[in-house]
Amino acid sequence: MTSTPARLLIIGPQGSGKGTQGVRIAESLGIPAVSTGDVFRANVKEGTELGQQVKAIIDAGDLVPDELTSAIVRDRLEQDDAANGFLLDGYPRNLGQVGDLDVFLEGRGEPLTAVIELSVPRAESIARLSLRAAQQGRADDNEESIAKRLSIYESETAPILDVYRGRGIVDEIDGVGSLDEVYARIVSALSARGITA
Ligand code: ADP
Repeated sequence: MTSTPARLLIIGPQGSGKGTQGVRIAESLGIPAVSTGDVFRANVKEGTELGQQVKAIIDAGDLVPDELTSAIVRDRLEQDDAANGFLLDGYPRNLGQVGDLDVFLEGRGEPLTAVIELSVPRAESIARLSLRAAQQGRADDNEESIAKRLSIYESETAPILDVYRGRGIVDEIDGVGSLDEVYARIVSALSARGITA
């Protein structure tokens, strides 16, 4: 059986566990996990020019401008380790970014092959975020920023799922359960598409 290339997107509300699952899935498939949130946080921490540009935006829970975000992702996907596949986490998160990514991937003849939608009820998502705020102290895990990010998720990010559903590439995964249970659900959905380690 020839396996399907793993060009993946994981998407879900804040606190859905997508970062953790994304890293695990990417490791098992031998592809890089590309998290725009991680890229921005690393730059803020190191005080780079990009970091200085985006810090206030991130802390407030707003979106970094599309042109900047899309350019960063394109650069990352052009690196050698992403030649055989990648897992995107946190990008695209609005319709403009979907368009940017389409132009780039279609130019290479390499469209996304699966979109993992992690579903978690809002109350659960908020509970997990409060826990994370206590444990990790992320500057954007304050009440105001969390509320704004969840509302941007609902208004701007959830609609992109319709686009990908229309392409028949979305797998909706129940994100409630232990890390291992959720992971096993994702692995089985991907293998049904021929995406295997
Ligand atoms: P969360 O999903 O909890 O909001 P992320 O780590 O995915 O956490 O993102 C943190 C912040 O980084 C976002 O609130 C936003 O400011 C910025 N960011 C991340 N990805 C994008 C993106 N694709 N477009 C614009 N801004 C982004």
